[in-house]
Amino acid sequence: MWRFSSSQTLLNNNKMRKLASIQKIKALEPIEGADAIEKATVLGWQLVVKKGEFNVEDMAVYCEIDSLMPDKPEFEFLKPRGMRIKTVRLRGQVSQGICFPLSILPSDFAVVEDADCTDILGITKYEPAMPACLSGIAKGKFPSFIPKTDETRVQVLQKVLDKYKGEKCYVTEKLDGSSATFYVKDGEFGVCSRNLELIEDAENSFWKVARQMDIERKLRSIGKNISIQGELIGEGIQGNKLKLKGQTVKFFNAFDIDKFEYLNFFDFNKLIGELKLPIVPIVALDYELENDIDAIVKMATIKSQILKDVWAEGIVIRPYTEKIDLLLLNENFDNGRVSFKAINPEFLLKYGE
Ligand code: AMP
Ligand code: MN
Repeated sequence: MWRFSSSQTLLNNNKMRKLASIQKIKALEPIEGADAIEKATVLGWQLVVKKGEFNVEDMAVYCEIDSLMPDKPEFEFLKPRGMRIKTVRLRGQVSQGICFPLSILPSDFAVVEDADCTDILGITKYEPAMPACLSGIAKGKFPSFIPKTDETRVQVLQKVLDKYKGEKCYVTEKLDGSSATFYVKDGEFGVCSRNLELIEDAENSFWKVARQMDIERKLRSIGKNISIQGELIGEGIQGNKLKLKGQTVKFFNAFDIDKFEYLNFFDFNKLIGELKLPIVPIVALDYELENDIDAIVKMATIKSQILKDVWAEGIVIRPYTEKIDLLLLNENFDNGRVSFKAINPEFLLKYGE
């Protein structure tokens, strides 16, 4: 008998998510007080479409929010929004993403449900501009011995919910900052942004905060090859919506480099506590995963625990016991970790995302 430990399937592949794909219109419903438009359900997303343009069960090209469309006549109407597909509210209905008819595809494109059309349509992902304090000099690529941080949107994870419904999970507040990774490996301390390892310098916020929070000494005190990852938030970052003074990192991961696996929540929480470092705010403990995307998005529609009258960006849901699932890997969702996000639609509307 072969036995696999979870770490053996945790691949560090960080594939790109599908921004545009062929999807079925699952449902169409009227919107109160609107004659020209209706509400469509595609994957776990809800969006507004022109009435009569699609029928239930029709295939369409669905483009997710944050798709940056190419400058072509069929996407001309997005010019005022910088070609970016954003969350909008139309007649009181939140609409996320856009459905286009299959005719926008080249005539020889094989129409198969779920087929990725991102590249063929020339769509790229919108990325916010990097403020000066975050840009540093790269020491190199992001280290291959640590997975990059990422979370998949719950709206595309129906199969995962089908499989893990009822699983005991914890829910944290998703913070809108910049991903930070710190590690000690074989006696060397490293600091990384979302995609790069950074050379130490006086001005760069990742390094500044590492010094302020005494992270190198704390990580060395553990006495093994370890990485901790969190969200850098505060002044100068993403508009500092939580109005913090200075900058800090709130942690959400601890990773055992030698075992190539994440610590379970209990051990993560204990370790970060012992190091006297802050973790991301906790929204719920003992949450039994519901097989209901709309309910999860509703749970994400909350105010921040850091600043009570400001919308939280959303939530991140994870099982107490770390899980790696080939289902996720197979569908190109990053590294196979069962962990996902639900973004607060009110946050997206408020900040024009
Ligand atoms: P996004 O910011 O939409 O790319 O979502 C994924 C990112 O959310 C991760 O790469 C982290 O940097 C960040 N993040 C913020 N808060 C959390 C949290 N509570 N748990 C996990 N990731 C988080
Ligand atoms: Mn983010």
